[in-house]
Amino acid sequence: MTTTIALAGNPNSGKTTMFNDLTGSSQHVGNWPGVTVEKKEGRLKGRKDVVIQDLPGIYSLSPYSPEEVITRNYLITEQPSAIINIVDASNIERNLYLTTQLTELGIPVVLALNMIDIVHKRGDVIDTDKLSKAMGCAVVETSAVKGLGSKNAAEKALWLSDLHAHGGHSRDHVHAGANHVGHEHHLHHEPPFEPKHRFSAVVEDAIKLIGALIEDAAAAAATATGAPTRWFAIKLFERDSEVQRHLKLDEQQQAQVEAIIKTAEQQLDDDSESIITNERYSFVTDVIAQTLTVKDSSGVSLSDRIDRVVTNRVLALPIFALIMFVVYFLSISTVGTAMSGWVNDVLFGETVPGAMEEFLLSVGAADWLQSLILDGIVAGVGAVIGFLPQMLTLFLLLAILEDCGYMARIAFIMDRIFKRFGLSGKSFIPILIGTGCGVPGILASRTIENESNRRLTVMTTTFIPCSAKLPIIALIVGALFPGQAWVATSTYFIGMAAIIISGIILKKTRWFAGDPTPFVIELPAYHLPRVKGVARTMFERGWAFVKRAGTIILLATIVVWFLSSFNWTLQMVDTDESMLAAIGSAIAFIFSPLGWGDWRATVASITGLIAKENVVGTFGVLYGFAEVAEDGAEYWPMLAAAFTQISAFSFLLFNLLCAPCFAAIGAISREMGSARWTAFAVAYECVFAYLVAFSFYQIALLLTTGAFTVATALALLVVLATLYLLVRKPYLSHEPKRKQLKKAPAST
Ligand code: GDP
Ligand code: MG
Repeated sequence: MTTTIALAGNPNSGKTTMFNDLTGSSQHVGNWPGVTVEKKEGRLKGRKDVVIQDLPGIYSLSPYSPEEVITRNYLITEQPSAIINIVDASNIERNLYLTTQLTELGIPVVLALNMIDIVHKRGDVIDTDKLSKAMGCAVVETSAVKGLGSKNAAEKALWLSDLHAHGGHSRDHVHAGANHVGHEHHLHHEPPFEPKHRFSAVVEDAIKLIGALIEDAAAAAATATGAPTRWFAIKLFERDSEVQRHLKLDEQQQAQVEAIIKTAEQQLDDDSESIITNERYSFVTDVIAQTLTVKDSSGVSLSDRIDRVVTNRVLALPIFALIMFVVYFLSISTVGTAMSGWVNDVLFGETVPGAMEEFLLSVGAADWLQSLILDGIVAGVGAVIGFLPQMLTLFLLLAILEDCGYMARIAFIMDRIFKRFGLSGKSFIPILIGTGCGVPGILASRTIENESNRRLTVMTTTFIPCSAKLPIIALIVGALFPGQAWVATSTYFIGMAAIIISGIILKKTRWFAGDPTPFVIELPAYHLPRVKGVARTMFERGWAFVKRAGTIILLATIVVWFLSSFNWTLQMVDTDESMLAAIGSAIAFIFSPLGWGDWRATVASITGLIAKENVVGTFGVLYGFAEVAEDGAEYWPMLAAAFTQISAFSFLLFNLLCAPCFAAIGAISREMGSARWTAFAVAYECVFAYLVAFSFYQIALLLTTGAFTVATALALLVVLATLYLLVRKPYLSHEPKRKQLKKAPAST
C-alpha cells in the first residue's frame, strides 16, 4: 500500500525545493510565486511506498484561483495520508492563515517551519512547542534548500498518518475529539492533528447548527472526500459555491443554511466570508504574539534597501534595461561569442567537416551520403549547436536573476506599467517563464482567472524571445551587427512592447474587454544565488537544447538538405536549382516587402515554425559548409552579404514575433481549448509580425535612402492605423464587476 504525503503551502515558501530534497528529483524552483501550476508526484527517497505530492502554492482554500482549485480538490478528494504544510518561517504570520484551514481538513498536518535559516540569521526565535500546541499540529524546523529537516518532516508525517489510520477515531473531528483513545502514550491528551482554532461564539454556534443540518449530506459526501462535517459547515457558512454544489442540499436545507448565516451576519455586522477571514487572522495574530520573538526590527533589511533603488519609480526601468543589456552583452557579445565563434568557425567550420570528409572519403562513401552528412547534418545541426556556449551563458545569467529574487521584482515593476493599460501584471509571470521556453510560459497563464485576460496572455506570451530564438538573434547580431550588443538587448524590449501594444489594442475590442485580474505578488527576500540550483537550471535547459538539436532539428535539417540537394526529378543539383529553391522562390514574394525576399530566408523562416533553432540550422545548410569548401568564404560573412542591416533587422523582427514553434502552438491550442481561438492566435501573431517588419523596413528605407514608394505609403498607413487602434475608445463591457478577492493584510 502506498502512503501519500502532500506538500501544501503559500507560493514561494519552498515546497518544490523540499519536494526535490525528499524525492531526489529536479523540478524547477524559482524565487517567485507561480512557478508550480500543476501538481507533481514523486517517491520518497529510499521509500518506494511513499508518494510525495508537490502542489501549487495557495494562500487559502477558497475556490477562486486555479491553483486554489487544484490544491483544494486534491486535498479533499484524494485524501492524502498527511500534509506537510510548508511555511515560510521568515514570513510566518501570513503563512499561518492557510494552516488554520489545512488543519480543519481532518488530515494530519506537519507544519514545516521552512527557511528557518533566515529566521536564525535575523536572530528571531519561534517557540515550536507553543506553536504546535496552539495550531494543533506537529511542528518541525526545516531549511529545504540546505537539506535540513526535510527528512524529519517526512518521518513525522508518516508517523502521524500511521497514528491517524490506526488511532481508531473517525476523521470527523466534530465528534471524534472526545473519544480519542490515547494509546500512543506521548500523545496522551492531545493528538497533534486536532485543530485548535475556534471561531467566536456566534460563528461556532452557526457552524454547529449548519453541521447538524447537513450531517447526512456531509456523511454521504465524506465517503467520497473524507473531509469532516465541520469543514463542510465552515465552507457553507462562507457561502462556498463549490461546496454548496458538492453537498447537493435540497431547497429547504439551503434556505435554512442561508437563514443561519444571515442571523450571524446581522449579529456581527459583516458578511460571512469576511467574518471567517478576520477571525482566522486575529487567531493567527494571537498565536504569533505568543510564539515569535523578534530580535530587533528597527533597522531596514538589506533586501528592502536594495528594493528602494531597484523598484524605484524612476530608476526601475533603466536598471532593468541595464541588467538585460549586461545579460545579452555577456552571453552574445563576449563570453558567448568567443566560444561560439570558435565552435562555429573552427570546430564545425574546419575540424569536424575536415575530419568527417577525410573519413567519408577513406571509406569510399557515396556522394549523396557525403553530402547528407557534411552539407546536411554537420552544417545544419552544427550551426545550431554552435550557439550552445551562448545559450549556456544566457541560461546561467537568467537562472541567477531568477534565483536571487530579481525576476519577482521585474514582475512587480512591469505590473505598474501594465496596470496603466488595463493589463494585469499577472500576465507577466508567463512572460518571464517564456524567456526560457514558450511552452511552460503559456501553461503558466492558467493562473489568470479572467478568461479574456488569459487568452490575451496566451496569445502574446511568445512575443518575448525564448531561448530557442537566441541563436537567431546571435546569428543576425554576429553576422550583421558585430559588437553591438544593444541589438540583442533590444529584442527583449521589442517583445515587451509587442505585448503591451497588442494588449492595449486587443483590450479595446469586444472579445478582450474586462477588468484585469488583481495582481498580488510578494517580493521574496533577496539571497545570493545558490550554485546548485542555478547550475541545475542551466544544465537542464542546455540539455533540453542539445536534445532538440539531436532530434527535431536533426530531422528538419535532413529534410531541408534533401529538398535543397535534389530537383523534382530527384537528381542531385546545386541548391539554386533544387526543389527547395523552387518552392522558396515561389513564395518569396510574400516577404519581399519586408526586405528579404530571398528564397533562403523565406525557407528558413518557415522551418522556424517547427523549432526556432531551425532558422539557423537551415541557413547552415543553405549557406553552408559546402560553399565554405568551394570558395573559402565563411558562413557568417556569406549571410552578411545576403542582407543589409535594415533587412536583417526586419528578418529578426519577423522571426521574433511570428507564430511560435509547433510545440508552443500545441500549448496554445491546449490552453485555448478551441481550434478557432488557436487559429486566431497564430494568425494574429503572424500578421502582427509581418506588419511590424514591413513598417520597420519601409520606414527605415525611407529614412536612409529617401526612397518613397507605394510600399512606404502603406507602411505609414499601418503606423497611423496602429496609433488609432491604440488611442480609440475602448469597448465598454457590461459584465458586473467580480467580487474582489480578500487579501491578506500586509504583514510587517
Ligand atoms: P515553492 O513556490 O513553494 O515551490 O517554492 P520554491 O521551492 O520554488 O522556492 C522558492 C525560493 O525559496 C527559491 O529561491 C528557493 O531557493 C528558496 N528556498 C527554499 N527553501 C529555502 C530555505 O529553507 N531557506 C532559504 N533561505 N531559502 C529557501
Ligand atoms: Mg513550486
